[in-house]
Amino acid sequence: MSTVKTSAIIVKANPYKEHDKLLTLFTLDRGKIIAVCKKARHTINRWSSSFEPPIFCNIQMYEKNQFYTLTEISTIESFLSISSILKSAVAFQCIAFTINKFTMLEMENNSLFYLLLSTLHILEKKMCSPSFACSYFNLQFLKESGFALNFSKCVSCGKAFTGEMFSFSQWKNALFCETCTKKNHIFPSFKIDLKEQLEKIYYCSLNNIEENHYGHFLFNYSEIDRIIKELFKGFLSADCLTVSQFENY
Ligand SMILES: [Zn+2]
Repeated sequence: MSTVKTSAIIVKANPYKEHDKLLTLFTLDRGKIIAVCKKARHTINRWSSSFEPPIFCNIQMYEKNQFYTLTEISTIESFLSISSILKSAVAFQCIAFTINKFTMLEMENNSLFYLLLSTLHILEKKMCSPSFACSYFNLQFLKESGFALNFSKCVSCGKAFTGEMFSFSQWKNALFCETCTKKNHIFPSFKIDLKEQLEKIYYCSLNNIEENHYGHFLFNYSEIDRIIKELFKGFLSADCLTVSQFENY
């Protein structure tokens, strides 16, 4: 049995047994972990924290056979405006879904921790729209995970993108120009102006968001969501990660 101290973001909190809660935490030192918080559902309990995600906190736990039990928690930031505004709460659910589904347990990833934390900050401070925060997180998540996209030329013919549409091919896990999309019968295809919007969010930095009010640009989020869905299908089929690695969770 060992004691673990780290910073963490509560991603999910579920009732567990009669009195406890099961927390999904994204931690600085150990990546995603699941920890049990005993007696958290008692009306009178020793925990001052509500455990409502998202909360940024310092925690102490003990670990036994990769099973974590929370012993101390102190809140650093509770992101109250995220949980009180419906659209922001929905955007956080979308971000939490990505963490839950597409990361593995106990895989340390500092850059993903700070990406999550900074996305929560820009959302909390209303520096961007909730839809932007969600698209920004998902695209940066793919980039951080080594799923790179080339926006300058079509992977199939090597030519610049011309024409009125483009597609994402899961066969090559890359963007195809209009000619190659038609030639290979790739579905779905997307209007070419979406490529520019996607590229802006993909290469966006926190300074861009703050200085240029990037997060309030009017992107076509419903279409961008459709593209991101295709990208995640490609991400799952990529060599570095296979679906089987997620089956245990
Ligand atoms: Zn092409």
